[in-house]
Amino acid sequence: MPGLTLIEGGHVVTVDADGTEHAPGWLTVRDHRIVSLGAGAAPSEVRDAADAWIDARGALVTPGLVNTHHHLYQWLTRGWAQDAILFDWLVALYPTWARIDADSAGAAAAGAMAVLARSGCTTVGDHHYVFPQGSGDIVGAIVHEADELGLRLHATRGSMDLGASDGGLPPDFAVETTADALAASAAAVTRYHDDSFDAMVRVAIAPCSPFSVTADLLRESATLARDLGVRLHTHGAETVEEEAFCRERFGMSPAEYLESLGWLGSDVWMAHCVHLSDQDVARFADTGTGVAHCPSSNARLAAGIAPVRAMVDAGVPVGLGVDGAASNEHGRLGSEIRQAALLARLRDGAGAMPVRDALRLATMGGARVLGREAQIGSLEPGKLADIVLWELGEVEHAGIADPVAALGLGSLPRVRRMLVQGRDVVVDGELARGDAAAISRRVVDAAARLRS
Ligand code: ZN
Repeated sequence: MPGLTLIEGGHVVTVDADGTEHAPGWLTVRDHRIVSLGAGAAPSEVRDAADAWIDARGALVTPGLVNTHHHLYQWLTRGWAQDAILFDWLVALYPTWARIDADSAGAAAAGAMAVLARSGCTTVGDHHYVFPQGSGDIVGAIVHEADELGLRLHATRGSMDLGASDGGLPPDFAVETTADALAASAAAVTRYHDDSFDAMVRVAIAPCSPFSVTADLLRESATLARDLGVRLHTHGAETVEEEAFCRERFGMSPAEYLESLGWLGSDVWMAHCVHLSDQDVARFADTGTGVAHCPSSNARLAAGIAPVRAMVDAGVPVGLGVDGAASNEHGRLGSEIRQAALLARLRDGAGAMPVRDALRLATMGGARVLGREAQIGSLEPGKLADIVLWELGEVEHAGIADPVAALGLGSLPRVRRMLVQGRDVVVDGELARGDAAAISRRVVDAAARLRS
């Protein structure tokens, strides 16, 4: 959008350090940054300077949501192994995933990201860890689809090198050698990672999990990431079966094992962390290790309920993730706000997760987890213009006096308007830069090819 854009009239939830809200309020955007904001009607000098005006009356205005964990490729394998726990579910899906290539990964990424965008997600974290021989540039395909839709992407180059014949969970044909995984991870960083303030694409290194990766690959990935100045990501402490695997094989809990390999630190975030002890939570807090909390996926696979209240109170950076769509067919990040609030209450009581805390996880929490807290996650002057206007004027939310409760406890509102980097990505619930019907056809075709 050219010049200065004024967004005015909505209930503005800034998610700044003080939890400032303006009801109503206004904010201005120039190029890809937020310039100014305030309470009430915009001052006349701001109105006079504005080149464009966006009507936010009847809308809730929040920072764009930040997804911290996903496997976009799984969009093609939704609805499989519907009643299985993690290990059985993985074993059922690995053979199909091992046929993925850049074309099918691109179609899957387009589908998954279209749904993320329409649920208020402006920054997509992805974890891709299946790289069959000859499958092409899968990371490049995902980067391309994010660029097409206008979304900010934190891609991770994942890996697996511990096949079943070496005591791992994945079949041997689904894993790479340790050396190949490290070389390809370095190449993905060199090719796609952007370290700038307003980066639309960043890349992290992300060996998959303690039961699919060797200790060597975990240790050397940590060294490589630190040499390259990028972040580290993996799965950790997701299920009791993983805990048993680590205790039997290494004589340690998953968190202790990962720490022994250099995997706690402010440059690391881990998905799930359902089964952390009080001491683990304290170590995560001391080291600044982040957590991607994926409540719907944890419920789908009956993994358990992560101790999110304890983590947040201890100072652990916690964000939300949808996780791969094969364990969360819903795939909508906005809905994870409600899911996080509900599961925390089931675990720790009615006061365990107020809706404003859940919204903070989805925004600033995710920004901290991805190392982007200076740039995204809140509505403040100088930050990047990733902004969502949630439609609250429809029957689903009519009469709910608190708009944050409407978002966090009600049905997920339609996105009236969503800006990423100051540009329209969703308008009136529809993609502004993509065609959802065409993406659906690509997904249907790619899913059929993968099944056959
Ligand atoms: Zn995952």
